[in-house]
Amino acid sequence: MGRRSRGQTHVRCRRCGRHSFNIRKGYCAACGFGRSKRIRSYAWAKG
Ligand SMILES: [Zn+2]
Repeated sequence: MGRRSRGQTHVRCRRCGRHSFNIRKGYCAACGFGRSKRIRSYAWAKG
């Protein structure tokens, strides 16, 4: 795609520690912090 250097979409999540907290949406894509009270989890993502 190119031109990805401008701005940032995700920052470090303070709950899961991953670099998945979406600034624009206001929640973490990895753990769901800011989106739901519970930790984000899916059956297809269990491990
Ligand atoms: Zn998180």
